[in-house]
Amino acid sequence: YDDRDGKIWVDGQMVDWRDAKVHVLTHGLHYASSVFEGERCYGGKIFKSREHSARLLRSGELIDMPIPWRVDQIEAAKYEVLAANGFTDAYVRAVAFRGAGDDMGVSSSRNPVRLAVAAWEWGNYYGDAKFQGAKLDISKWKRPSPETIPTAAKAAGLYMICTMSKHAAEAKGCSDALFMDYRGYVAEATGANIFFVKDGEVHTPIPDAILNGLTRQTVIGMLKDRGVTVHERHIMPEEMEGFEQCWLTGTAAEVTPVGQIGDYHFKVGTLTREISEAYEALVRA
Ligand code: PMP
Repeated sequence: YDDRDGKIWVDGQMVDWRDAKVHVLTHGLHYASSVFEGERCYGGKIFKSREHSARLLRSGELIDMPIPWRVDQIEAAKYEVLAANGFTDAYVRAVAFRGAGDDMGVSSSRNPVRLAVAAWEWGNYYGDAKFQGAKLDISKWKRPSPETIPTAAKAAGLYMICTMSKHAAEAKGCSDALFMDYRGYVAEATGANIFFVKDGEVHTPIPDAILNGLTRQTVIGMLKDRGVTVHERHIMPEEMEGFEQCWLTGTAAEVTPVGQIGDYHFKVGTLTREISEAYEALVRA
């Protein structure tokens, strides 16, 4: 991704894509002092744009790394990047991190907090699984307790086990991995939340140790508007045996049907299709 034409916004300046570099002694690279956002722009409008910018700032606060930019400045930066690259339909990635500075120890209060915003064209996150139903592995790693790490932050440190789990899943021919949490409850995938359907009602984990995704919140609203009962609750992995349909939600994943998780099988059913299509219509509305 580093060697291409285009522009990236870095600390208030638009720089050539190839020149958007950091030093090897960047604090965030060593100690995961980094938070980020993943957003999608549809027809020139970023879905839930301000909510994403606000979450970025909140993630920074949660990891004790105040970001020296306001929501309106981040909004402007995102749209400048889209315009500079000529994109109307793209994925937008904002990342804030502790840069290189006076300190190279764990303490980093004297290192500058930097912000970069990039955008690129990114189609279906799960490829054809978007239509046929994704196959998920069950990760051997567990989502940590909120007493271990600030789980509500979209922080780089939380993604170390995501990459490891995704690699293990891909080696088994799966598109992604599903995590249980530290208590053993069904949690989330490596970059998406999970929903199940049984007897016309929807079940999804309580976001007490997972990211409460903006897509998750949007989809819960869409279901309630349709009069569908949504149970936000702790879900045991064995319950997956009795669930009929399953889908993932996320900015990149949008609404992706799931056909299989480990040995559990699901149908790509009517409600899954309906919500997936309704979400697509909503983001373009
Ligand atoms: N969980 C994790 C671990 C994620 O990385 C994401 C993607 N940001 C989500 C859930 C879904 O969040 P959102 O709907 O806000 O993209």
